[in-house]
Amino acid sequence: MDRSPELSPCIFCRIISGESTAKVFFRDDLVMAFRDIHPIASTHILIVPIRHIGSVNDLKEGDEALIGHMVLLARQLAEKEGLSERGYRLLINTGAHAGQTVLHLHLHLFGGPLARLALR
Ligand code: AMP
Ligand code: ZN
Repeated sequence: MDRSPELSPCIFCRIISGESTAKVFFRDDLVMAFRDIHPIASTHILIVPIRHIGSVNDLKEGDEALIGHMVLLARQLAEKEGLSERGYRLLINTGAHAGQTVLHLHLHLFGGPLARLALR
């Protein structure tokens, strides 16, 4: 599912295109990282592909580098946030039973004392 060039109903595509605002930590050609609007840990950052991908179910052969990039960016942001030593949680919800509410693939980065409870 590719993003429509017209006004997109996908909230993360709208953030990527600048139609909606977010606190942005990082952006390059492949990914963007921004603060979750309803944080459930002291650090709660979302890492999303620039290209609209609904979920892990929609990944294709050739997306290996993209996923690797998302994880390595999470590690880099965790380091910047001072989380490397004490730890952090990375989470990708996929589908209704996992509680995925935004149908644009995203990797949650949770840090801080509540990170171990953060299972949204
Ligand atoms: P999930 O439940 O895994 O689909 O996570 C979706 C996440 O997106 C939730 O943690 C929401 O708080 C977050 N979210 C929804 N809308 C926005 C937004 N406009 N800006 C930042 N985060 C958002
Ligand atoms: Zn999207």
